[in-house]
Amino acid sequence: MIYAANFKMNHTRSTTRDYLDTLSKKLLSKKSEDRVIVFPPSTALDSYHGAFTIGAQNAYPARNGAFTGEIGLEQLEEFDIKTILIGHSERRELLAEDQESVANKFAFFAEAQFEIVYCIGEPLCVREEGDVAVIEYLKKQFEGIDKSYEKLIVAYEPIWAIGTGRSATIEEISTTHAALKAFIDVPMLYGGSVKPDNVKEIVSIDGVDGVLVGSASLEAENFSRIVLQQ
Ligand code: PEP
Repeated sequence: MIYAANFKMNHTRSTTRDYLDTLSKKLLSKKSEDRVIVFPPSTALDSYHGAFTIGAQNAYPARNGAFTGEIGLEQLEEFDIKTILIGHSERRELLAEDQESVANKFAFFAEAQFEIVYCIGEPLCVREEGDVAVIEYLKKQFEGIDKSYEKLIVAYEPIWAIGTGRSATIEEISTTHAALKAFIDVPMLYGGSVKPDNVKEIVSIDGVDGVLVGSASLEAENFSRIVLQQ
């Protein structure tokens, strides 16, 4: 299983270091086959060591250059970062990243051989139209994306389940993951209000290869409980 923590715009460099110290101790009892990925904010990127991978929540698709406020490949290479989150719904919706710019970013970081956690997810109005509409919507989020990229992980994150405390039902996750797996055969994470008390049930669903966790990952103790399923 893959357990990924997305800090979003939370934590500082100093609290990230403390977090990773605590997490490292907890991860001593992690199953060897399980993987943990942590996405801190870009100001907290650094060369950390432990039984986890550090990834970038976002970066601009260029090595360096005149892109005020952005970080690029050069800044990630400084810390040997080779994992990136692309297509998160908050970036698509709040930061107006359209499918074309998401696909450009994907192509750039695939060319640079990054592991890419690629997020997709439907809004509530689409979910209310039913399973067929959901799958059609999700498939469109693969426009311009190389589905055969070997370092691709997909995270299915229904927008209405993110940060709301309302996770998708087991049946919704199961049906959607099965349909997605028939369309693209890569590790598939579920994200959306995953917490210590629902993770066990979620990771036991066929077609779920792990979870991407926002709010419940912000405290190391809580995220360790998710990873260790305690
Ligand atoms: C996320 O934003 O990727 C996420 C899954 O958030 P939360 O766990 O808070 O729903």
